[in-house]
Amino acid sequence: MGCVMISCPVTGNAVSTGIETDHYALELAKAFKSRSRCSECGGEHIWSKTDVWICDTVPYQQPHAA
Ligand SMILES: [Zn+2]
Repeated sequence: MGCVMISCPVTGNAVSTGIETDHYALELAKAFKSRSRCSECGGEHIWSKTDVWICDTVPYQQPHAA
């Protein structure tokens, strides 16, 4: 699993859409469009399947149950 990432057209930085999927699921998905709130510029971006990539490095650690 990884985060679906888009490139912010305003700042040019990678932004997580908050959606988690894997390469296989993305591959199987039909062409689609979605919109996400951007944490970089504060705006909303409309993106499609071809605009995204999956970031396998999850930016936060899953806490382990003791
Ligand atoms: Zn943005």
